[in-house]
Amino acid sequence: MINLLPEDEFLERTANVALQRVPWDLAKQKGVDVLMRRDDLIDTHLSGNKFYKLFYNLHAAKDSGYQQLLSFGGAHSNHIYALAMAAKFSGFKCIGVIRGERSRQLSATLLDAESAGMKLHFVSRTDYREKNSQELRGSLNRLYGDFFEIPEGGANNYGVIGTTALGTAISQQVKGDYTSICIAAGTASTLAGVASGVAMGDQNLNTDDKKVIGFSVLKGDGDLGSDIINHQHAINSKTNNWRLISGYHCGGYAKKLPNYLRQFMSEFEATANLQLDPVYTVKMCWGVAQLLVQNYWPRGSKIILIHTGGLQGRRGFGLF
Ligand SMILES: *Cc1c(COP(=O)(O)O)cnc(C)c1O
Repeated sequence: MINLLPEDEFLERTANVALQRVPWDLAKQKGVDVLMRRDDLIDTHLSGNKFYKLFYNLHAAKDSGYQQLLSFGGAHSNHIYALAMAAKFSGFKCIGVIRGERSRQLSATLLDAESAGMKLHFVSRTDYREKNSQELRGSLNRLYGDFFEIPEGGANNYGVIGTTALGTAISQQVKGDYTSICIAAGTASTLAGVASGVAMGDQNLNTDDKKVIGFSVLKGDGDLGSDIINHQHAINSKTNNWRLISGYHCGGYAKKLPNYLRQFMSEFEATANLQLDPVYTVKMCWGVAQLLVQNYWPRGSKIILIHTGGLQGRRGFGLF
């Protein structure tokens, strides 16, 4: 039996996520009001944007009669972790195709995923790059039978549609009273969905001055801008209320945190009275700090930071 959260309860949850003021001296000096939307708290098992990205994927899988889910990720992946938890609590079987050979000591993320019932299928880094190949599909089908496939990071149409609910919820919560919404961007499919959702939720939106700003956590972020346009296109949306900011990756994706960032992280956490994850949200907050220093926002601005969760990933960095 597959048992999923109904859509009305999903929407109700998204409407009730706390917006918490961050008493940040730097922001106060600059006359900017900073609020954090605590999507890390939206669910006990699936945190942050992965809760949104998986919701319609799970429904699509169930509606098409699948019993089994399959997706891709690295050894510390928040997406793999969320998928394993979602499968466990909804009654799906699931398979995680994991980048790299199986190591003798599995990461905390993979240990949890495996004990939640996920089957781990390791592929070499070279094969992982070819993860969309027909050969891999064929051998996975022979090994595991039929499955509903979700791309790495949950970045498909269903994932983007799920994240529009996050944007709509914010615009209804703040009713136009904000300057910018800030979010960390990996594939930037959440940024795309949130920007669309904000536009759907606010008929009076002035897209010239109210933006959703994505902070890329990637060192080489390639063509992320056109990815955003494509993600929106795939859900029949096109908005110009988003911006992508690069340069605050602090050494690259999931790399060891430089000392200045580690120090910033613990200070920010103490100030805001919450925890950040070391791959995404800490870099968004660092980017926001740098923009505040540069007087990017005029006095009187009100900015909303989205906490996209991912705290389970702290363990891979020796943070608890
Ligand atoms: C996956 C993840 C992101 C990135 O989401 P994208 O849609 O790929 O941009 C951001 N923050 C956290 C905590 C994540 O786990």
